[in-house]
Amino acid sequence: MGGPVQQGTAVVVTHRETSDEIAASAVTAGTGAYRWIHPGTLRLYVQGSSSLAGWSTRHLELVDEAVRAWMQCDGVRIEVVSWPLNADVRLYWTDRLPSTNPGVTMLYRNASGRLTHADMFIAVQPAPWHIGTPDRVLYATIAHELGHALGLPHDPSAEALMHPSPLVTEVTRADMARLDSLLRKP
Ligand SMILES: [Zn+2]
Repeated sequence: MGGPVQQGTAVVVTHRETSDEIAASAVTAGTGAYRWIHPGTLRLYVQGSSSLAGWSTRHLELVDEAVRAWMQCDGVRIEVVSWPLNADVRLYWTDRLPSTNPGVTMLYRNASGRLTHADMFIAVQPAPWHIGTPDRVLYATIAHELGHALGLPHDPSAEALMHPSPLVTEVTRADMARLDSLLRKP
């Protein structure tokens, strides 16, 4: 989100899953649309506390709000789980991102290109943008990155929260339509 779109930063990692060692590739979200390896409910782990300056339980409320927003899309089911190892998507708070790029999502794919895991890193401090109050800007960052974790790429539409530098602070009809068509693909 924000700043230059990161391209070509893929690294290959080895990912242990059950008893088999399978090669998975990790990419920084943004350019491609991806589908999950399994249909149905995605398990989301959210780092439940942080000692970083500016973090508060408000951050958790904003994650819940983002989850509810995306679940308005047919076929999106997200369950918050309390243990990262069982999660499909993991959200961590950080103070190590530049203000121009306050969220990063790493997508892990199997050999068929299907998503197996996603890791979201969200800056505790809202980006210094003027599209809304700090609360709304922080929410927009969380919801945007969650959109990547669901498989969405960036959207050129100025009406989309998935725009690389969004002008809106909520999940819009444009975003819902994009996700709906992604999920309906055979
Ligand atoms: Zn993005």
